[in-house]
Amino acid sequence: MRVLVVEDDPDLLRQLTTGLEEAGYVIDQATDGEEGHFLGDTEPYDAVVLDLGLPIIDGVSVLERWRAAGHQMPVLILTARDSWSDKVQGLDAGADDYLAKPFKMEELLARLRALIRRASGLASPEIECGPVRLDTRSSKFTVDGRAVRLTALEFKLLSYLMHHQGEVISRTELTEHIYDQDFDRDSNTIEVFVNRVRKKLGVTVIHTIRGMGYRLAAQAEDDQ
Ligand code: CA
Repeated sequence: MRVLVVEDDPDLLRQLTTGLEEAGYVIDQATDGEEGHFLGDTEPYDAVVLDLGLPIIDGVSVLERWRAAGHQMPVLILTARDSWSDKVQGLDAGADDYLAKPFKMEELLARLRALIRRASGLASPEIECGPVRLDTRSSKFTVDGRAVRLTALEFKLLSYLMHHQGEVISRTELTEHIYDQDFDRDSNTIEVFVNRVRKKLGVTVIHTIRGMGYRLAAQAEDDQ
């Protein structure tokens, strides 16, 4: 899952980035509203953490522009403590949730998990696909109750597929959601990672759709 963090306070930006990366997210950063707006307008994000008090363009305007352009990614806004009008303005501009500063990283992570889950139409914190289960709270995968050890990149890949079960996901889309914007991307390596994940799972849930990409599904289908 790839998350954009727009925050002009360097200390908070660092804390957010570290906390989110440790939780398994791929992070892009912006430190003003103009850069933040541009990234959210041009890159596919699974969620955005958006500070409202930003240089150049304020957070509410950034959000309004994204929504006016039809971007539907979940957005969590960071507001000043006790500013109820910020919260109202932000929610009315299209925010999905808010958190007042200062906040605990654990709360931000829990809210973000919920937003990403709901954006995928999932209500439960445990996502299942046949024998494969992802507990989004602990970021652990199991197959028939057996823990599966994945590398950070393998986790990102399988987590994205779990959140988009039944959909055909192209290699390009997978690449865009498991690497940050600065990574030297090569969509050919995706196949290598997919095959490693398949081997570790030991069950067939990741199906190759020839010429199109991959589909995660529990039921047997003819691999092409
Ligand atoms: Ca700020």
